[in-house]
Amino acid sequence: MKKLVAANWKMYKNRTEAAQCVLDLIPLLKHIPADREVALFAPFTVLGSCSDVINSKGADNRLFLGGQDVYPASEGAFTGEISPEMLADCGCRFVLTGHSERRHVLGESSEFVGRKTAFALEKGLDVVLCIGETLEQREAGQLESVLAEQIGGGTADVPAGIEAARLSFAYEPVWAIGTGKVAGESEILEAHLLVRRLIEKKFGAKASEMRILYGGSVKPDNAGKIIGLDNVDGLLVGGASLQAESFSKIALA
Ligand code: PEP
Repeated sequence: MKKLVAANWKMYKNRTEAAQCVLDLIPLLKHIPADREVALFAPFTVLGSCSDVINSKGADNRLFLGGQDVYPASEGAFTGEISPEMLADCGCRFVLTGHSERRHVLGESSEFVGRKTAFALEKGLDVVLCIGETLEQREAGQLESVLAEQIGGGTADVPAGIEAARLSFAYEPVWAIGTGKVAGESEILEAHLLVRRLIEKKFGAKASEMRILYGGSVKPDNAGKIIGLDNVDGLLVGGASLQAESFSKIALA
């Protein structure tokens, strides 16, 4: 399985800034090991510009694009939404579903996240399904039940026969996102093992081939240690992905 190091640019960068960042990133990723992939989850408005740069530099087998969200329909009267086909048309291979900011700021349920996940997979996008507990849930001893609910709902309509490489999970404890408070080694090991067991319930032996990324205050100085832990198959990086240099250090860590 190839490890996946992914940037989540959230609601940052205009087209010029995004294109420049990709231009800077491409040479820095030249020596990315063959067993690693890099993805950029960029705002919808800059996907076209990023795709143009990637194609013009011939980096399309090294650097992949993804949308940060998707709607579970191909087209229709869904003002403000975007379909998997539209993302693919902008050069996306991937999409994120269930990011904690969508669950907690925009109120998305696991059921809705599940519909997005299944539809995006059906339409050919590879999905990174985000899961993770709040601090209150962790302190109330609810880690396992929260992950079980998010994975259960998030994969409810995904066919058990899905190609394992097309569905990844990103464990992102909400209390570690954008806080500078990275989860400890034992917390990451415990949660990732739990995720592996929970996805085994649905996907059986195939679960061992599905990537589980860690996200939450990953920086160049902690990335190498985290990506080397058992059951950590990649990283999802927010703040530290906005500069090409720091993100490339994480991708190569
Ligand atoms: C994220 O947005 O998914 C994330 C992990 O952010 P940060 O790296 O800034 O904590």
